[in-house]
Amino acid sequence: MSSFRTTGIVLRTVKLGEYDRIITFITPDHGRIKAVAKGVRKTTSRVSGRVELGSWVSIQIFKGRGELHRLSQVETIDTFPIIRGDFDRINSSFGLLDAIDQVVQEDAVSEELMDMLVGALKWLDNKDHDPELVVASFYLKLLSKEGAAPIVDRCARCGDEEASLVAFDYSAGGLLCNNCRSGRAVPEEVATAMRAILGGGLGSILLIKGYPFAKDLELLATEALEIHLDRRLKSAKILRATGHA
Ligand SMILES: [Zn+2]
Repeated sequence: MSSFRTTGIVLRTVKLGEYDRIITFITPDHGRIKAVAKGVRKTTSRVSGRVELGSWVSIQIFKGRGELHRLSQVETIDTFPIIRGDFDRINSSFGLLDAIDQVVQEDAVSEELMDMLVGALKWLDNKDHDPELVVASFYLKLLSKEGAAPIVDRCARCGDEEASLVAFDYSAGGLLCNNCRSGRAVPEEVATAMRAILGGGLGSILLIKGYPFAKDLELLATEALEIHLDRRLKSAKILRATGHA
């Protein structure tokens, strides 16, 4: 059996038999890989705490015949302890992991996606940063990477560049003027934030503290990505349960 070493972030884990788990990772050089972690559910396992959702690890993989490989060594790079200690941040991180799990290809170079995810988890792993802004920015950037960014610099329907943009409807292409409006009404600030995130001003948005429209932005970005993926994201359940949708 041949083997290789790489780094990965745990996207998903599923029980297998009595003691094992199938762990899904995103890796920079092999895309999504699935590997069996033998004995990981035994109480004596030293590996179990290292392969929790969202952990960033260095791994050795023995190649299997099909898509299922065998995990042999796991060393922690970062467990993102601030995220783990905060329910909202855990939930936000699940959304990021779920979104990446939907778009990453098996056996493909995925350095850019991996960098995006590591970057977003590092931002989330800091009490000074607003989790809603991190999630919103990540989803918008992911749409952009997928070639499916919403139009935010003019009316997506009539193309008017001068009109103020007052609504957002991802199915209609993005932000809309008053004549063309459909979807959700958006305050000026949200339209401006979307332009900044998609236009190279991401850092300045993420550093804002107490941004009053963070939740609106997260909801719009979540809905847009869900339309693009044609499925719901795990973290969005809670977003909706809190009455924002
Ligand atoms: Zn218009």
